[in-house]
Amino acid sequence: MKKNNSARRNFIKLSVMGIGGITMAPVVAAMPNCGTRNTIINDKKLHIVCVGAHPGDPEFGCGGTMAKYSDAGHRVTFLYLTRGEASYPHKTYAEMAALRTMEAAISCKVLNATAMYAGQVDGNTVLDKNKNEEMTKMIVGLQPDIVFTQWPVDAHPDHQVTGLLPLTAWVRSERKFHLYFYEVNTGSETMAFTPTDYVDISAVRERKKEAMFAHKTQNPVETYNDYFKPLEEFRGLEAGVKAAEAFIHFKAKAERANIIGM
Ligand SMILES: [Zn+2]
Repeated sequence: MKKNNSARRNFIKLSVMGIGGITMAPVVAAMPNCGTRNTIINDKKLHIVCVGAHPGDPEFGCGGTMAKYSDAGHRVTFLYLTRGEASYPHKTYAEMAALRTMEAAISCKVLNATAMYAGQVDGNTVLDKNKNEEMTKMIVGLQPDIVFTQWPVDAHPDHQVTGLLPLTAWVRSERKFHLYFYEVNTGSETMAFTPTDYVDISAVRERKKEAMFAHKTQNPVETYNDYFKPLEEFRGLEAGVKAAEAFIHFKAKAERANIIGM
């Protein structure tokens, strides 16, 4: 019980600073009506867990933010639900899994992240009682301060599952960590995404590109030019910077009752 109280206190302390104060400061400072969020810079080293259905999802969706976290000395773990083994019909699952695991290792090295795999099957991910328990155990075991995962309103069923499993982990862990959703291939995959927070990634754009382009089997140049370049610039326009990544922050109950001037 004592342990829980202390975890709760830490959570409250952390929650004041928003999305890792150091990384968000430039953008939040430029946005009006942001109140006191982010004004407290905590030097605690955070553990960031970024969940993605397939190798590449965390990198494309929030590689810039993850680069900034690891540059600031925070620990970043990418938890991939699958190894993307179903992505090429002319190779076996084993061959494709080996290839994409290798690509993920290269991109994780660029971003200074650690890769982990949840053992689900690409194109056939499951959201049920067992998988919810498994994922909750896995995420809670990692003791994250912040979890990023895919926005579940998405055309790809694996992305839907990837959004909802960590949501259950968040609820079952009594909202012990911050939960943010990220977007991928917006307009084609992610839908109905209205960001609450932005991270200025202008300074790490090239690093993010390097991490994305490590996923050679995924037509990264085309995907970048068609989706992520325009998206980074559009989110940048919204945030008043050159390029940004955008997120939806699921706030804990205590934070919801917090409107400026009230
Ligand atoms: Zn994906």
